[in-house]
Parts: sequence; structure tokens; C-alpha cells
Amino acid sequence: MGDDMKKVIPFIMLFALCSLMYKPVVSVSSSQSLAKKVIVLDPGHGGLDNGASVGKVNEDELNLKICYALKSELESRGATVYLTRTDDQDMTRRNYNYSKQDDMYLRVLKIDEYKPDLFLSIHLNSSSSGAWGSQVFYYRKSQEGERLAKCIHDSMKPVTGTKKPTSSCGFYVLRATQSTGVLVECGFLSNANERGQLKSAKYHKKLAVAISDGIENYQKSLSSGG
Ligand SMILES: [Zn+2]
Repeated sequence: MGDDMKKVIPFIMLFALCSLMYKPVVSVSSSQSLAKKVIVLDPGHGGLDNGASVGKVNEDELNLKICYALKSELESRGATVYLTRTDDQDMTRRNYNYSKQDDMYLRVLKIDEYKPDLFLSIHLNSSSSGAWGSQVFYYRKSQEGERLAKCIHDSMKPVTGTKKPTSSCGFYVLRATQSTGVLVECGFLSNANERGQLKSAKYHKKLAVAISDGIENYQKSLSSGG
């Protein structure tokens, strides 16, 4: 070892010590309130099935974008999040000979495969009446689903201005799954004003925060036994 090296070593050791002492604190979001929770997000439609569409605005594409915003919000709160589809394809991943039945069957299998604490099917609505606002659906025989729907509905209300109540239903995706879940219609593509919002990334983020707050409230209500 040369003399130069001998002079340098103490500095290297000091540097190493300092970096140990000043090990940056891993930035943990203020609360990891959803730690250990597994959540599946199911962006409705995809591939040949655009869902609702107005002009060039397609529901399936926006559902996916909203799910990605929601995924990152939920992950920032500690949840593990899976999507049933991650691109513009139906669940059969063959964009021909499309069968809605196959698609829905595979969706249900995929959701249950992750054994999630809960799942959300994300959709956008359409109507000829000028209606607007979010609406949350739960399977009529699921008490947990009803509770989750109410929590999400309450936290979305100030964002979407909805006047619609939560609704019980018999939708296949909620009926056939073993997991607790709800279907969230985030708003009406048919309403020009709401469509403008639903196209914006900023609004996706707002929806994501509201839905995540609702999920947190649901989890709290479970642990308080209320
Ligand atoms: Zn839909």
C-alpha cells in the first residue's frame, strides 16, 4: 500500500461512517394506512369493447387511466395493487372472436386469484338524460360490499357532486366473485361538463384520492367493529 493510499483510507472510512450515520430516512407517506392490504382494480371493458363512448372518447381507455391513478394513490398508502388488465385488450387477449361472456368469466377468475381484501371494478356511465355524478354498486347479498360502497360513495360525493344513492345490484362481476368488491361508475361520459373532467389527469387524481379515502374509512370501520 502506498503512502498516498494510507492518507486516503481514513477519509474513506470517515465517509463510510458518515453515510451510515446520515442514512436517509426512507420517505414513508404520512400513514401507511393500507399496509398489507391487497386490492384488485378492474378497469371495465377493453380491446374491442370500448364501453360507453362519445365522439372519440372511450370509456375503456379512461377506466384504465383512472385505475393507474388509483393504483399509485393506494400504493402510496401501503397497499399491494393488481390490475385485471394493464393495456387496451379484453381479458381473452385475442382481439377477435370477442366474447363478453369469456371476458367476464376471466375477469372474475383473475380477481379471485389474488385473494384480495377487496376489489373495485371501475366504469364510466352514459345516459341520454344529462345525468352526472358517481354511483357505487354492490351485490345485493353482500353486507361487506354494501359497507364498502357506502364508504366510497361518501368520500366521492364532494368530488363528483353526485345525488345518486348507492345501489344494490346483481352484476355478474360482483355476484360471481368470492371477494368483497364494488363497481364504481365514476361519472357520466354523456354529460359534456363531466366528460371534460373525466378526460383530465388532474381529475383522475382527485377521484383516486377520494376512492382511497373511502377504502381507508371502510378498513377503519372493520377494525372498529362498527
Ligand atoms: Zn362500463
